[in-house]
Amino acid sequence: MVRDVNANEVIRYQRNLLIPGFGEQGQERLGQTRVAVVGLGGLGSPVALYLAAAGVGTLGLFDSDAVELSNLQRQVLHDTGRLGMGKAESAAATLEKLNPGVALEVHAVRLTEGNAREFLGPYDAVVEATDNFESKFLLNDVCLDLRKPLATAGILALSGHALFVVPGCSPCLRCVSPEIPRGVPTTAEQGVLGAVPGILGSVEALEILRWAAGLWTARADGRGLLHSVDGRTMRLASMRIPRRRECRCAVLWSNE
Ligand SMILES: [Zn+2]
Repeated sequence: MVRDVNANEVIRYQRNLLIPGFGEQGQERLGQTRVAVVGLGGLGSPVALYLAAAGVGTLGLFDSDAVELSNLQRQVLHDTGRLGMGKAESAAATLEKLNPGVALEVHAVRLTEGNAREFLGPYDAVVEATDNFESKFLLNDVCLDLRKPLATAGILALSGHALFVVPGCSPCLRCVSPEIPRGVPTTAEQGVLGAVPGILGSVEALEILRWAAGLWTARADGRGLLHSVDGRTMRLASMRIPRRRECRCAVLWSNE
């Protein structure tokens, strides 16, 4: 059923509706889209805030952790009054105040090989905003199996990367790195400045929004774009990524 954009929504989403090529149709498409945000920390905070503000119809909020004081220099969904509260619950409390029109589904669970397909099945697209490679690769593989678009990103210290994967239409995370990298330091070891996940999470949100609004198209050369920020030199770059013929995503490609 196509939902009409009502009078209040016309005002709330005016700056969306004015965007050339977006319009009422793009807004209606956002309103019908269900997005899972996995991880509600540094990356998940800007993702969830911008998806809710833009009017994505339903957000699935996945995180099994509780808010800690050391989270608050980057995890802007949460605040000092929420210490000890579950992050999924805290995120829902913030997003409900931002935009009561968004349906919020709270999942205080950790996704695993055993449960991820069941939990992510009801969503149209997935945002990977976790802090570990095991989860990033698990979500990549599950989204390939379920043929759901995936926005994924990684951050450390002053730098980060982001990639948007549409199974069968753009390269996946394993096209970039076939196996889980080992021996890479974590943000618990080398820290991270909050604006870094702020930028990369916003890139993830933008990828999801343009896909949901119908503005995304596969590149003619079949390649993907790996976006990167280097906060030491302040260089922002987008590298063209080829698909890997031996990759597990190759069975989904049909154009050759
Ligand atoms: Zn691949």
